[in-house]
Amino acid sequence: MEQTFIMIKPDGVQRGLVGEIISRFEEKGFYLKGLKLMTVERSFAEKHYADLSSKPFFAGLVEYIISGPVVAMVWEGKNVVVTGRKIIGATNPADSAPGTIRGDFAIEIGRNVIHGSDSIESARKEIALWFPEGITDWQSNLHPWIYE
Ligand code: GDP
Ligand code: MG
Repeated sequence: MEQTFIMIKPDGVQRGLVGEIISRFEEKGFYLKGLKLMTVERSFAEKHYADLSSKPFFAGLVEYIISGPVVAMVWEGKNVVVTGRKIIGATNPADSAPGTIRGDFAIEIGRNVIHGSDSIESARKEIALWFPEGITDWQSNLHPWIYE
């Protein structure tokens, strides 16, 4: 089944939003397949955001991501990449609808609390980068109550 990479950024951890964010994905019906708290090095953050290296905000973005521990997760489910992005909301919290994570908990684009993969291909790359050790596979007994 489809998987996505979700990361609670340092502001989300510092502000005590870890439980709330995990609940939103859990309550939707997605399955948690990987989870760890870690502080990443500059070179690792630069690799994660390599596609944005030419942007004027890149240096600030890297400083932000390495400023404290983050929670790295793998979530699984039907359409989890696209639906995960909807749960997260627009990149700029000023444009994120209320009810989304960024819409409810963030104000500025440079402190937008959470990352989510933007495609199945980037999810695959990001999961490989953040979970080189692999993830635990398990099957939820709720499956037939969530899927037809
Ligand atoms: P995302 O996929 O919605 O996270 O957005 P992007 O992949 O385009 O950008 C990655 C992250 O860089 C965003 O989540 C923001 O934290 C940050 N970012 C993007 N655009 C800007 C910007 O214009 N200014 C600043 N300060 N940060 C930005
Ligand atoms: Mg992105």
